[in-house]
Amino acid sequence: MPLSPAQRFRTLRAELDDELRSCGRARGSVRILGVSKKQSPEAILDAVRGGLDAVGENYVQEAKAKFEALDAGSDALPFEKHYIGHIQTNKAKAIASLFDVVQSVDRIEAAAALDSAAQKAGKVLRVLVQLNISPAERFGMDPAAAERVAEAIRAMPGLCLDGVMAIGPVTEDRGEIFRAFETAAKTFAVIGGKTLSIGMSGDWREAVRAGSTMVRIGTALFGERVPGR
Ligand SMILES: *Cc1c(COP(=O)(O)O)cnc(C)c1O
Repeated sequence: MPLSPAQRFRTLRAELDDELRSCGRARGSVRILGVSKKQSPEAILDAVRGGLDAVGENYVQEAKAKFEALDAGSDALPFEKHYIGHIQTNKAKAIASLFDVVQSVDRIEAAAALDSAAQKAGKVLRVLVQLNISPAERFGMDPAAAERVAEAIRAMPGLCLDGVMAIGPVTEDRGEIFRAFETAAKTFAVIGGKTLSIGMSGDWREAVRAGSTMVRIGTALFGERVPGR
């Protein structure tokens, strides 16, 4: 029998707290975002029952269908909803209404579209700016440009800037991964906020050592993704 998402969540929580202790940080000071793209609502529900309190999705239509199914269940448990996919400005309205937090703001136009949609929906959307710290990554802004974008976001009444998100480089060189995360941490220190969202299934230890406050974990929680879902 493969381990359930709830079992994997508890194991990961314990491993994270061990890593935190070994670098002198408080247990629980890194939050787990369960990344559930291409995973079933049942798998998400299992993880949430096991203690997961924040879920990340990359695709608007897929997220909408799953959140509706989960919220409609008689045994529904609350969890925070994070959008981590690329922002198309024509989807801003759907993103602003479906999600509590948007981690993938990578340009002013995306921020402006979300701001306008959030204001129309009468809510304040928490956002992170997405940095590009990896040559292979298509999206995210240059860390040097992030401060200016952060300032612009701070002036937008529909948005609340809460920090920085970045995707680590795809490499076996653990030092290179750590240094890229340090770049994200330095930019986070300048921009401010409470959330430094760095670290995924394959590189969360480096991220924790660089100061992550949120790791985004897909396969290590839910197993391999189901193609085509
Ligand atoms: C898919 C995805 C993750 C999770 O990746 P895993 O390697 O499965 O943990 C994290 N962050 C983003 C932005 C993603 O698209």
